[in-house]
Amino acid sequence: MFTSHSGGLRLLSVHAHPDDESSKGAATLARYAAEGVDVLVATCTGGERGSVLNPAMDRPEVRADIARVRREEMAAAREILGVRQRFLGFVDSGMPGLNEPLPEGCFAARPVEAAAEPLVALIREFRPQVVVTYDETGGYPHPDHVMTHRVTVAAFEAAADPERHPGLGEPWQVSKLYYHQALSRAWFLALHEAMTERGVPSGMGELLAGWPDTPPALATTTRVACAEQFAVRDAAMLAHASQVQPGVAFMAHPRDIEREVWPTEDYHLARTSVSGAGGPTDADGPTEAGGAETDLFAGLRAEVGAG
Ligand SMILES: [Zn+2]
Repeated sequence: MFTSHSGGLRLLSVHAHPDDESSKGAATLARYAAEGVDVLVATCTGGERGSVLNPAMDRPEVRADIARVRREEMAAAREILGVRQRFLGFVDSGMPGLNEPLPEGCFAARPVEAAAEPLVALIREFRPQVVVTYDETGGYPHPDHVMTHRVTVAAFEAAADPERHPGLGEPWQVSKLYYHQALSRAWFLALHEAMTERGVPSGMGELLAGWPDTPPALATTTRVACAEQFAVRDAAMLAHASQVQPGVAFMAHPRDIEREVWPTEDYHLARTSVSGAGGPTDADGPTEAGGAETDLFAGLRAEVGAG
């Protein structure tokens, strides 16, 4: 299934639930797909324990068949983004209450090494140069997001090791591993301030008021310009109709303001085997004034002979 573009650039984005690919880094996926990069989304769970977050969709028949509804929503979003997608087959852990145990057999309750196996197999089959996932906080304190980080790092390492999982395909070394920096405090603040300055009502003030002003733990190494794909991103997000209420805080800001004040999606380069990646001396990686990369494939395009 994944051999048709084996000579070119390949990007694998690993997410916890259907809809995460559309709320974090979606414009980046759409941009690379439009450029001809082979883009694959791996979704760890089916989102079976997700609540229906859109009142217009909160109907008994939707709640009763949420797994099917979310598969259909994912198929629609995948089409809109122009990417391929595969479920890794784990069961959503849900968001447990304080001191509440994880449901038996769910994704986050699995041992990391074993839970990484389907992703090791997928990496060896698809052979991406670049993998993107969440940082160790999960970016959001859902057990499946934290588990997605752990499993992706474990699979990144194991996939390259010929001694490990010899039955899961030929070893493959991913060149770069990135973490999302989506939906950051800085992003909300920049939009909130720009809206306020322009006299546009902002729904972000309440959210920001409860958000401690601590500096981000990880530096932004990479900013991918993708404002032209914001409309595609929005359409993909809305395709997850059970999960998004049109008009919620992070969907409600005017897009012209977003294109002006934050026209990129941002990343932290966590692991790389590319020498000089991210630095101003990088041979074919365009950099912006601050030295950040502007391309997830910086340093790889000449080598791959594509792009
Ligand atoms: Zn999620």
